[in-house]
Amino acid sequence: MFFEILTLFPEMFVGPFSESILKRARQNDLININTVNIRDFTEDKHHTTDEPPYGGGAGMVLKAEPIFKAWQSLQAKRDVQSKTILMSPQGKQLTQKKVKELSQEKALTLICGHYEGIDERIRETIVDEEISIGDYVLTGGELPAMVLVDSVSRLLTGVLGAAASSQQDSFYNGLLEHPHYTRPREFRGLKVPEILLSGNHQLIERWRRKESLKRTFLRRKDLLETKKLTDQDLELLAEIKLELKGEFDGQD
Ligand code: SAM
Repeated sequence: MFFEILTLFPEMFVGPFSESILKRARQNDLININTVNIRDFTEDKHHTTDEPPYGGGAGMVLKAEPIFKAWQSLQAKRDVQSKTILMSPQGKQLTQKKVKELSQEKALTLICGHYEGIDERIRETIVDEEISIGDYVLTGGELPAMVLVDSVSRLLTGVLGAAASSQQDSFYNGLLEHPHYTRPREFRGLKVPEILLSGNHQLIERWRRKESLKRTFLRRKDLLETKKLTDQDLELLAEIKLELKGEFDGQD
């Protein structure tokens, strides 16, 4: 999959994309990340990329022409269609469902705003979609772009190791994932649940499903409202509610 990132600060991407899983994915050509410096597409002597806003007010606005030219330069370089995404706090929130949907694309072109944002006419002319990573405002679109690239990449075939599977992760199937344990068997007096040491895979699976449902019930009831639950899930949830009621009653 191709990621093209239009930014004023390409250096910001060097570290995060040169370590661990994303580094390996790039080396194995599973993902291809091309950062493009918007400043290289300015035509004036001072390489101006931002100007004060028309109408006055604080901050600077990224000019339309360099972004448009940078975007245009990419069109001829690839033979696949790319979806153009503006990273914006005003966009649709990035969820695992959205990540899954984006992972079906062949190429994504991400535009990172900075300062007060970008000239509105870029949004009107070349942007297919605006994406936010949450209801807070960051200094630039670079960190949101990294979040998007990371979350989409790990869903691509071969990016995670054979043993790891993104399909068990929280949100993938509408639930939070069960807790994990590794060596040692006892840590500061806390023991690993016996069942995980039993070798009985059926019971382990049941325990994991129940813990996953319990976490979701306790932390994100909203997810359960839209999740299609199986008969076994409903049975497990009934057990969970009884156990929690017992714990609650025991506190009196
Ligand atoms: N003035 C803008 C507003 O109030 O909507 C905020 C501009 S912000 C300081 C600068 C840039 O950071 C934005 O153009 C966008 O690219 C990026 N950005 C900031 N917060 C973001 C978020 N939550 N999700 C995605 N991008 C964000």
